Amino acid sequence: MQDTLKKNDEIRVTISDLTNEGLGVGKIGTMAVFVKDTVIGDTVRAVVTKVKAHYAYARALEIVLPSVDRVPAVCPVARQCGGCQLQMMDYPAQLRFKEQKVLSCLMRIGHFTEEELHMEPIIGMEDPWHYRNKAQYPVGIDKSGAIIAGFYAGRTHSIIRCDDCMIGDPHNQQIVNRVIAHMNRFHIDAYDEKTGNGLMRHIMIRSSHDGRFMVCLVINGYEIPGLQELTGDLSSMPGMQSIILNSNLKNTNVILGEYTRTIWGTDYLEDRIGDILFRISARSFFQVNRAQTEKLYQTALSFAALTGHETVWDIYCGIGTISLFLAKQAGHVYGVEIVPEAIEDAKMNAELNGISNVDFYTGCAEEVLPEKYREENIRADVIVVDPPRKGCDPAVLKTITDMAPDRLVYVSCDPATLARDLRYLCDNGFTVEKVRPCDMFGQTVHVETVVLLSTKSMNIAKY
Ligand code: SAH
Repeated sequence: MQDTLKKNDEIRVTISDLTNEGLGVGKIGTMAVFVKDTVIGDTVRAVVTKVKAHYAYARALEIVLPSVDRVPAVCPVARQCGGCQLQMMDYPAQLRFKEQKVLSCLMRIGHFTEEELHMEPIIGMEDPWHYRNKAQYPVGIDKSGAIIAGFYAGRTHSIIRCDDCMIGDPHNQQIVNRVIAHMNRFHIDAYDEKTGNGLMRHIMIRSSHDGRFMVCLVINGYEIPGLQELTGDLSSMPGMQSIILNSNLKNTNVILGEYTRTIWGTDYLEDRIGDILFRISARSFFQVNRAQTEKLYQTALSFAALTGHETVWDIYCGIGTISLFLAKQAGHVYGVEIVPEAIEDAKMNAELNGISNVDFYTGCAEEVLPEKYREENIRADVIVVDPPRKGCDPAVLKTITDMAPDRLVYVSCDPATLARDLRYLCDNGFTVEKVRPCDMFGQTVHVETVVLLSTKSMNIAKY
């Protein structure tokens, strides 16, 4: 067929997959063609916009035959915003897509057969809307000069007005509106990243599952006009727990600056996962979907099969969420994490919950773990890893295979790096026992996966 696509060619293509960014993928001859705003199963008429050696990009002109899974996007700015790449796909179809994505990565990149993977069905969300417990709205002005808050249009820095995000907390809109009303009343300008002028940069809101809020205003300065009126107004909202000012005077994409001060209420927001209470400060990382996090950790806990005596290592532990969740059913849990503030939070949260059988170490896992193994000959019955998207460092994987725990629970937010790491582990003594995807981010292409591995065959060989 047409192996030689040219720019401006008009094509008709059926979408069979989605990229990590949510672009539809179709095939014309041997060429992959990426088409934005399509879903799996759509047949579209499209115009080619860019051609490379083995792939091309095209812009959809018309959906000739819509996919059976296509639904109207609920959010009016879904296309421009780009945060919810799957909003035009029915939720059950989103879940099938995610399961398939995990399976195909593990088979294609990890070279596993489907039988070896023992894959269990994805854990879907009961309600795939309004689940995010954290939002960060950049503040700017629209064409008429009016102050707006919203989201950056996919991959750009222009702000699209959106104070009613469909995956965010419905109360956010009220908070944003009050802040903007305050800005108008006290003639406070929005920050302009081109000139570096203007005060208000971002409105960050965290919410707890039981309706409490933290508002953190990121400003290009240290003071805000009408401070008393602002705190008076925001604190009168039911559930307000903490109001924070963060100063960021740098010309940078990083949202939070270094200086943080509490102007009303507590320095933190409290939330629970299972029966563990967490204090979350403005700067701390906390999973954005509490309900699914609980299911994810419950799965990790059941995979770990703890009886109360085990020594557990939680590598890439963040603020110790998994460590504390496991600690009540383990002998002792050790956590390793690179961010010192996260370890401070982990220690504080352990104390807050009266959990004393945990120890946390600050440092790179790839240094801490091999060093402890070499120098202290540490051992583990169970190891849990929850690495960032790039997966585990080779030195971490090597040490884990040397330590040969009975069980390894791998929590992953990227199936491609998961596949790579599982291949290494299975070439070095581990066997995959179960794979269970979990949907933490409905409407988006992201998927979390929990895998149980064991060294059973190795242990049998040892004796
Ligand atoms: N398990 C936690 C956090 C997982 S996110 C939770 O569920 O909340 C991954 C964590 O790995 C982050 O906290 C990040 O700071 C940490 N991290 C990234 N690189 C690291 C490294 N080289 N060594 C140790 N921790 C690292």
